[in-house]
Amino acid sequence: MSDFDAIVVGAGNAGSSAAIYMASKGLNVLLVDRADPPGAKNLSGGVLWGNDLAQILPKWQSEAPLERFINNKKLGFLTEKSSFMLDFKTQIFEENKVGYTVLRSKFDPWLAKKAKEAGALVIPGITVESLAIKDRKVIGIVESGDTITADVTLLAEGVNARLAIEAGLKRPLRDSDVSLGIKEIIKLSPQKIEDRFNLKNNSGVASEYILGFLGELNVGGFLYTNKDSLSLGVVVPMENLRENGITHSYDLIEMFKEHPSIAPLIEGGQVAEYGAHLIPEGGLEMMPKLYGNGYMILGDAAGFAFSNGLVLQGMNYAILSGIKAGETAVEAKLRNNFSEQSLSAYEEKLNSTYVLKDLKTFKDIRKVTNNPMMYNTYPKLLESIMLETLWERGQPKKKIRDVLSSCASNLNMGRIKTLREFYYIYRRM
Ligand SMILES: Cc1cc2nc3c(=O)[nH]c(=O)nc-3n(C[C@H](O)[C@H](O)[C@H](O)COP(=O)(O)OP(=O)(O)OC[C@H]3O[C@@H](n4cnc5c(N)ncnc54)[C@H](O)[C@@H]3O)c2cc1C
Repeated sequence: MSDFDAIVVGAGNAGSSAAIYMASKGLNVLLVDRADPPGAKNLSGGVLWGNDLAQILPKWQSEAPLERFINNKKLGFLTEKSSFMLDFKTQIFEENKVGYTVLRSKFDPWLAKKAKEAGALVIPGITVESLAIKDRKVIGIVESGDTITADVTLLAEGVNARLAIEAGLKRPLRDSDVSLGIKEIIKLSPQKIEDRFNLKNNSGVASEYILGFLGELNVGGFLYTNKDSLSLGVVVPMENLRENGITHSYDLIEMFKEHPSIAPLIEGGQVAEYGAHLIPEGGLEMMPKLYGNGYMILGDAAGFAFSNGLVLQGMNYAILSGIKAGETAVEAKLRNNFSEQSLSAYEEKLNSTYVLKDLKTFKDIRKVTNNPMMYNTYPKLLESIMLETLWERGQPKKKIRDVLSSCASNLNMGRIKTLREFYYIYRRM
């Protein structure tokens, strides 16, 4: 007989959600995390869309340590001297309040506490050394030389899934699988945040940026408002970072902070925290087999994250995959069957959710988000169109059609090439 019905490795969003689900259905669950408090070193931008969390914690909006609800989304294209912003503010987000900024150092320990309240045994400060495998079945974990056994082991160890890789359950990461996210938390008084970002009643703004002033680098930026801090960061594909021989990724965040449209927003703020973390962006190409004899892989470890330049999401994918893995384990317990065939229900369940549907629908999205023209050319194109149409310089005005074609040809964008490019993006977005 096993020590536990289920062992969950990793108390991030995926692991704690799975533990909450399984423990609340009566399973004997062990949840371990290398950090103490659990998950405290994890990193997100981070806007959490909480629809899935509501399935396991219906009172999450009043109980979780949330920062500000998002009622304003912005997308900005930055050149060295200009910014072109799309600004969407809606009462509908305000009425529904499902997207909130969170700070993982507060949110993850709270979620792990919920797993404990549901009945799971939560042990922080334990780095699992390896998986225990017998007769080609995962039978638990090895820690400090001891084997702890379970009928099923859930691997929610994050993007750099060392245990799964070492056990041959997942291939090693390639540069093309991941982006590097670098983030600072900048302390600023609530009053300053509300004045600068035009906020009230605990509302917040989430802005994403295309940084078109960093040469050959395809860098995105983000700036989110918390209660008394800002989350600011950059995201750059690992492949692109390495190709350009950039070792000082920290410089990228500094250049973002110095941009004329960002600097006034963070002025006077104090950097309280700094961190860097990989983001899985390889989609289906990096997705391992999700289940096997005695195990399932969830969250970032399975490559479940989504980014299209407008949004960066992974926490909701992690939570939903945790719930689906939890459901599968509970059903397997009823059958007393934790074989590969029994656990294949996990993938079937995910197939009917947005988790796998999105990965399939947007399987080519990186051809858009990593397209150098998105960074090197389009921000400059927007800048020159705006200057041509808005700047009165005592010159005869041009029709929009002529503005577009002269701006495009100044950037060596022939009409056919431009149309082909836009069609290419349109097909993949
Ligand atoms: C810069 C940045 C910005 C982001 N912005 C957003 C955003 O705005 N919105 C959004 O939804 N998502 C965002 N994401 C993505 C999101 O953070 C991830 O998709 C999400 O955290 C994945 O959750 P997870 O539980 O799978 O993994 P993680 O949160 O990484 O948790 C893995 C856990 O496993 C533990 N662990 C690992 N190995 C071991 C071991 N051997 N033994 C014990 N414990 C172990 C770790 O300590 C950790 O707690 C962002 C990510 C980054 C890096």
